[in-house]
Amino acid sequence: MSRDTGLPAPNACRWCDVDKDVHLQRWVPAVKWHGWTEPTDAQRKARMLARRA
Ligand SMILES: [Zn+2]
Repeated sequence: MSRDTGLPAPNACRWCDVDKDVHLQRWVPAVKWHGWTEPTDAQRKARMLARRA
């Protein structure tokens, strides 16, 4: 989640939308504890479109 737009950055975590530089270990129901995971190309594209709107 980025502070300027309130939307996830295109390169934010695949599972929880947190930026890589502040991610560390996070817990989400789908995958439990995880490190930052590269988002899919489709996810990046959808996030970029969302930020453009
Ligand atoms: Zn994550």
